[in-house]
Formats: sequence, C-alpha cells, structure tokens
Amino acid sequence: MSTAALPATPPAMPAPAFGAAMHALLARLFPICRSITGDGVRQTLAIVREYLPALQVHEVPSGTPALDWTVPAEWSIREAWVKNAAGERVIDFRAHNLHVLQYSTPVGGWFARAELEEHLFSLPQQPDLIPYRTSYYQPNWGFCLSHHQREQLQDEYYEVCIDSTLDAAGSLTYGELVLPGASEEEVLLSCHCCHPSLANDNLSGLVVAVFLAQELARQPRRYTYRLVLGPGTIGSIVWLSRNPEAVGRIRHGLVLTLLGGPGGFTYKQSRHTTAEVDQAAALVLRDFGAAYEVRPWLPYGYDERQYGSPGFNLPVGCLSRTPFGEFAEYHTSADDVGFVQPTQLAESLSLTQALCEALEANRSYRNLSPYGEPQLGRRGLYKGVGGGQEGADWQMALLWLLNLSDGSHSLLQVAQQSGLPVALLHRAARALKAVELLQPL
Ligand code: ZN
Repeated sequence: MSTAALPATPPAMPAPAFGAAMHALLARLFPICRSITGDGVRQTLAIVREYLPALQVHEVPSGTPALDWTVPAEWSIREAWVKNAAGERVIDFRAHNLHVLQYSTPVGGWFARAELEEHLFSLPQQPDLIPYRTSYYQPNWGFCLSHHQREQLQDEYYEVCIDSTLDAAGSLTYGELVLPGASEEEVLLSCHCCHPSLANDNLSGLVVAVFLAQELARQPRRYTYRLVLGPGTIGSIVWLSRNPEAVGRIRHGLVLTLLGGPGGFTYKQSRHTTAEVDQAAALVLRDFGAAYEVRPWLPYGYDERQYGSPGFNLPVGCLSRTPFGEFAEYHTSADDVGFVQPTQLAESLSLTQALCEALEANRSYRNLSPYGEPQLGRRGLYKGVGGGQEGADWQMALLWLLNLSDGSHSLLQVAQQSGLPVALLHRAARALKAVELLQPL
C-alpha cells in the first residue's frame, strides 16, 4: 500500500464552511435569554433539534429531589428596568439580557439611590462592560450595568420594575441525544446551556457539540455516544440522578466549553488523571499542531465536577480553549458574537472529532507473526514509500505496531511510546489487519 492510497474519511464540507455554519447557529442562539430553567432553554433546544432531530427534551418538575439538590422554581422574566426621576429608562433589560441579575425576584416601586446601589453590579476595572451575575439559590434582585452607566446615576430616587416569576409548579429542561454504536459502552459529551447572551461561555461548546454529534451520526460507531445539554451544575446533577443505568455504561466523557475564543486548547484531566480519555486527549492535542496545555484534575470548574464526584467517579475531562476566568471577556458583555470566530469553532470541531476517533481506534492488537519481523514487502506494505517523512513515519508506524502488539499495549500506548500520530497508527493498524498480521483483541 502506498502512502497516497492511505484510507481517509473525506470531510463532509471544508473547514471554512463548517466554521460559517457553526457561527451562524451561535449568532442565532445568542439573543435568547437563557437561565437554568425557563423558556430560554426550551427555545435553544428547539433550535438544536433542527440540527439533531432525534434530540429528546426532558422536563423535570420544580421541587424534584436530585441527589443532594432540589430542582428550583422555574424563572421567567418579562421586563426589568430602572427609571430616573424624569421617567427615562436608565437601565433596561430590553437593551441587553445581561442587565438583569439572573433569578431576580419580582420587585416594583421607588428606591433611594443608596438602596438601589446595593442591587447594582458593575466592573470598575472594566468600566465599559456589563457583568453577568446570577443568584439562583439565594432570593435577591438586581441589575448589572457598565460602571460608566452606573456613574451616571445621580438622582436621589429611582423607580424599579422587575416583572419576573419564580414558578414552583414549573420545570427544568434539558436535552439528550443518544447515538447507538456497536457497543453499549458509552462516550458522554456534556455542555451547559444556561447562559444568556454569552457566546464563548458556552454557546461555543454547545455549537461544537451539535456539529460533532451530526458528524458522529453519519459514521459507523464502535461506542454509543450520549450528548447531554443542560443547565450548569443542576442539569448534570439532575441527569445523574435520573440515569443510574446509563451512568454505569459511561467509559469516557468530555465536558465541552469555551471552544470559540482565541487562545490555545486546554484539556483538564478527569478525576482518574490516567483514564483512556486523558491519554487520548493528551496525544490528540500533541498531534493536532495547535498550542495546548494539559492541566490536572481540580474539583472546581464545569460539570466534570459532578460526573467526577467520588460516588460516580466517571472518567470525564473538560476540553476548552482559554479556561474560564483567564480571559478579560469572561462573564461580561464583551463575550459576544464577535469574540467567537468561525475558524476557532471549526478548529475546535476538528479537534473533538480527532479525539472521538482516537477513542474509537484505541484497542490492543496481537501480532500474528511475532517471531522475527514479518516480510512487509511481500505483503505490499513497503511498496510506494518514498524518501519523505510521511513515508518514513508510515514504515515506523507499521514496525512499532508489530513490535508492541503483544496484547499488552493499546494503540494509544503505542502512540505515546513511538511519538507517532494516533491517526497514522490507526491507519497502519487497519492496513496490518487487512493483511492478517494484526488481530484486534
Ligand atoms: Zn459561565
């Protein structure tokens, strides 16, 4: 087999087309006012279903116990504004979803400025930006605004209106998609979908996950893939509490977040630190060519905290670009549609595809001709290999696989020890299997 004839799956569309399509979905979802419950999540999942028609949408009633938590009342927000003495709206939720403190209780009436000040949130260090603030589990009301805007508030009294509802008879909404594979063993992909009008955190992760699921759906799959799109923390806790059987089938998992901003990739290891997904992520990032960093497990962050709580102890890592809190736009109005670039989304998709392919490819083989090197030329495996690096790597991939396929080395371990790309070793393993030199275990 010549290197030119190496089998490769052609992409469905070129990367720029993926980037544009992904960014278009992100821009469409951006204006929706999402929270951990409410119509914003329902509208978001309804749009996702246009892309993934098999997505199931679950409603879990408020008040339902979930592990050590309880599904909160459903929050709806219609209007929120502050008017000055002249009756002008000086803060208006209609101008930006971030202006209202998430889960604000309803309020109406006149407030002295000092009293109002206790309910205002701004960023003196970033005076042009509106911060994102929530108060899900402690009843409160408030407004978020730029510090410049706050400094303009000089009247003695302001009229305040927050027309919201906290419905104890409401529900929490999450989406779930299962793509059955040859095996019942599962790969979990999880994203939070509770943030309003913040593009990188986490519409980027959601959009990457949606396009990844579309691509996985078009391919033969060894593993069953399960995508969970839910509100941060309470969503994964609710999912874990309702799915003990599926939990037992999860072999690998990834939380996808912050995948549209600038900066290199960051993989945060699962609680296991040496799980297969941790090995696969480190090697795929090594092979990918972009800047990256692998960080150790930390019981803080996104929903990997819940999946990696000791009772569940699932091998779920977290893939992002620049991590949360480490870029100036984080949790502010500057995390907008322009902050996320199509090329970054497409690159993140490509990386997640490579990671799934590495998990699919990882297995151990047995060399069926282990006494001396088998004669590769006779089997056509040296033919057409020129002097280039690609040909040399192909030869080395064949030799490493034959040498380490003693039943005790996985493909990822061969990639680690040889320094050769996982994808190249996967192709070489298929070529060796085709000539009956390797047998998968
Ligand atoms: Zn966030």
